Amino acid sequence: MKQIVILGGGYAGLLCALTVRKFVYDNEAVVTLINRSPTHQLMTELHRLAAGNLPEQAVALSLTKLLKGKRVQLVTEEVTGIDTEQREVRTNGGDYSYDYLVIALGSQTAFYDIPGLEKHSLPLKSIHEANRIHAHIRQSLARYKKTRQQADATFIVGGGGLSGIEMMGEIADMLPKWCDEYHIEPVEVSLLVIEASPSILPGFPAELAARAMTSLERRGVECIVGVPIASYHYPVILLKNGQSIATHTLIWTGGIQGNPVVASSNIETQRGRAIVNPYLQSTSHNDIFVAGDSAICSQDNGLPLPPSAQLAWQMGEAVGYNLYAVMNDMPLQPFKPVIYGKLASLGRKDAVATLGKNDRQLKGLPASLMKEASKAKYLTHIRGLQAYLH
Ligand SMILES: Cc1cc2nc3c(=O)[nH]c(=O)nc-3n(C[C@H](O)[C@H](O)[C@H](O)COP(=O)(O)OP(=O)(O)OC[C@H]3O[C@@H](n4cnc5c(N)ncnc54)[C@H](O)[C@@H]3O)c2cc1C
Repeated sequence: MKQIVILGGGYAGLLCALTVRKFVYDNEAVVTLINRSPTHQLMTELHRLAAGNLPEQAVALSLTKLLKGKRVQLVTEEVTGIDTEQREVRTNGGDYSYDYLVIALGSQTAFYDIPGLEKHSLPLKSIHEANRIHAHIRQSLARYKKTRQQADATFIVGGGGLSGIEMMGEIADMLPKWCDEYHIEPVEVSLLVIEASPSILPGFPAELAARAMTSLERRGVECIVGVPIASYHYPVILLKNGQSIATHTLIWTGGIQGNPVVASSNIETQRGRAIVNPYLQSTSHNDIFVAGDSAICSQDNGLPLPPSAQLAWQMGEAVGYNLYAVMNDMPLQPFKPVIYGKLASLGRKDAVATLGKNDRQLKGLPASLMKEASKAKYLTHIRGLQAYLH
């Protein structure tokens, strides 16, 4: 009996587990999924949790329920290392032997050694961090009501990429409600996005990035672009152009790096992410597959695929099939990514999106509806709606 061990219960890990069981019989392999928490976290909805627009149960789905009847053993432990010689995974609860390993541990926030950033900023990469941001915003507003210190009423998002812009869109929408609650005038509150690239939403067409900026500015957000953050000596952010801003709230979404477990294993990596061949096998270890943000997978043009939930989902399914193929000495299928488009919500009622190969542009309500539709499609695919039911 072979042992298939899958590390990570995010988009890539869950879809891999569900797919492998469609092909591999119980008497051929034991499938074990190890995740640090008992839930499948919908990362693409974290900004809504952080703004208090969604309850935690809508963003953290029970893995036990999602895997019910799928013949996958769930282990809720922290992976601490991979011994590729012994073919063992180390966790805080024990060791797990594998014949085939799938690494789907996602990525983590990168702070780029910017002084003070890791210590004082608020990253947004987990349910815990999203809840922390929400509590922090409320505490700051409550404090401002008493002290009238501007640093308590200045909310900054560092990083104007997808997650940063989605986060600020939610904050801008919620601000009038919060101001009512804490008896503060909205004009007293400053909302800023700071982005090092020349534009927000890098990777989106310039017209949509400009549209997103106008949408945010209309709701009182100032976007500072083309200026990196030099340091955060709390409570003062210093920008590379010499400007300084005092704030007690810097939400940092400015970059990601590989998971440290991957970076510290002896498989071939680039900036902490595992390099994979067209079949999503580690280039140094063919008994290890890697999917999602943990993998660096090159496109035909030589550039790496961007980290995204839609690709993590597809990679997880591709690895699920290739595990079956490798176990049965069948030809492996090369991974063929399908990029359906890009979607950035700008709050509850606005969004920008590109669709399909021709990058058809959508703005406003149609794009917002697309965002909801893509979430519904995912939940239907993983039977996530059943996991909401208790
Ligand atoms: C706020 C935000 C908004 C985003 N919006 C979009 C979007 O709109 N569209 C889009 O395509 N992408 C979006 N992304 C990016 C997308 O979420 C990621 O690319 C995607 O989650 C990657 O999937 P994954 O399965 O590789 O990793 P993850 O979804 O991060 O899953 C990794 C899993 O591994 C677990 N894990 C990690 N380390 C350990 C360990 N040591 N031991 C045990 N378990 C561990 C984690 O708890 C997690 O369950 C967004 C990201 C963020 C943060």
